[in-house]
Amino acid sequence: MQRDPLSILQHVFGYHEFRNQQAAIIDTLVSGGDALVLMPTGGGKSLCYQIPALAREGVGVVVSPLIALMQDQVDALNALGVSAGFLNSTLDAGRARELEQQVRDGTLDLLYVAPERLTQARTLELLHQSPLALFAIDEAHCVSQWGHDFRSDYLQLSLLHREFPQVPRIALTATADPRTRQEIAERLDLGGARHFVSSFDRPNIQYRIERKDSARQQLLRLIRSEHAGDAGIVYCLSRNKVDQTADWLNQQGIAALPYHAGLGGEVRARHQQRFLREDGLVMVATVAFGMGIDKPDVRFVAHLDLPKSIEAYYQETGRAGRDGAPATAWMAYGLEDAIRHKQMLAQSEGNEQFKRHEHQRLEAMLGLCEVTQCRRQALLNYFGETLEKPCGNCDTCLNPPQTFDATEVARKALSCVYRTGQRFGVNHLVDVLTGNRSDKVASAGHDHVSTWNIGGELSANQWRAIYRQLVALGLLAVDAAGYGALQLTETCRPYLRGERSLQLRKDVARAQTRSRRAER
Ligand code: ADP
Ligand code: ZN
Repeated sequence: MQRDPLSILQHVFGYHEFRNQQAAIIDTLVSGGDALVLMPTGGGKSLCYQIPALAREGVGVVVSPLIALMQDQVDALNALGVSAGFLNSTLDAGRARELEQQVRDGTLDLLYVAPERLTQARTLELLHQSPLALFAIDEAHCVSQWGHDFRSDYLQLSLLHREFPQVPRIALTATADPRTRQEIAERLDLGGARHFVSSFDRPNIQYRIERKDSARQQLLRLIRSEHAGDAGIVYCLSRNKVDQTADWLNQQGIAALPYHAGLGGEVRARHQQRFLREDGLVMVATVAFGMGIDKPDVRFVAHLDLPKSIEAYYQETGRAGRDGAPATAWMAYGLEDAIRHKQMLAQSEGNEQFKRHEHQRLEAMLGLCEVTQCRRQALLNYFGETLEKPCGNCDTCLNPPQTFDATEVARKALSCVYRTGQRFGVNHLVDVLTGNRSDKVASAGHDHVSTWNIGGELSANQWRAIYRQLVALGLLAVDAAGYGALQLTETCRPYLRGERSLQLRKDVARAQTRSRRAER
């Protein structure tokens, strides 16, 4: 019973057409090939294996590390009339036997399994006795030992190729970098797989970042003027602030619910259900909210505090506009946010290397706040992707910020990196430029390099803002080893040689000049 993918999409899932590369990925599997799929969260990965599982004979086996989400996924499929089930440690023996029988009979379309369960001898035996449509390995970056989500069980999954060479496999992840992708292909023995790398761009999301002034009023203005009656998520850093903001919004006549780890599990579940089912609710939440949330019509995501990294920002803003209709990602940020993050980091457990790494990720996030060119280009650039033209759908494209000609100061900043051997972090570079003879400067002999004390026109803080912007623009890179050293990139050469002019954002410099005067 071969059914064609498009009719499954329309009649089972109720969608009109495939998105992006879905059709090509599905065709690859339906015709028996392997695929490695890199797609951002919300891109529509699930259909890439669900539809081939329905189109092909036998059961599609889905390996997923998120046991907590299996139930939801299976419920959603059952509601569409798809026969699906899961095998994991939460299932009682009776139900498991029933399910196993359905697998053998080939009456089940999709079987979700945790990796440790899949590689048990009993499960493998079951699968050998059953008709199999495909294997889908979700969150495939869990095989990467360098990532945050490493799961040793995932390493065992290479056995799928040996044991079931004729069954097509698809590995899926939203983790972008090429090294992880390479590792997935190697460790899962997916050498022959076609790679499908989607853009991380979410063109329907309008990115906007404002200076924090009175954040609540700014938020209220946003909701009232652009998102009255819309569903949205408001992220705050602390539980306290979540509670207060939700109360305050309700007082202003905007229906809002709080969500954070300090609320009981039952309250959280209730609020989450209400947010998913009712129209036009605003969820005020800490980052605890969002994992696996699939609400397509979230019209805005607002950040009242700076996220700790661009990865976090991208994940959180990515919950807006999953249906493809216009949505807003809005943030109010102030430098005090960055300081608070740094303090939290200083007090956190974590070893030095971890902290250094987190500092850099925070700096990159700050850099994104300060770019003067298209935010979307900067965001995608961070993930290793190039967007040829400015997007026209972010605040810097729509209202270009005030800039100044930074060609000369950028050249000084870059050449200071070069003269000191590309081995030093921003504070040291700023010391050299501003002629601050620290112990480190003295011992490195950097009070003798040609860039010593040539930066008197700007304050130390202004130089830091310049460096942050240069990092954000990709003219400088932070060293991979995690020492915080700034290094020149290929892109910076014409600027270093003074062949290309550079505009940088002005407001930072202005604000700091003012406060310096005030101190005097
Ligand atoms: P991912 O796993 O990549 O994060 P999902 O598979 O959960 O993404 O899909 C995200 C959302 O997009 C879901 O609501 C899904 O139903 C919807 N979706 C996926 N493909 C399509 C499509 N072709 N047309 C419309 N909606 C789609
Ligand atoms: Zn833009």
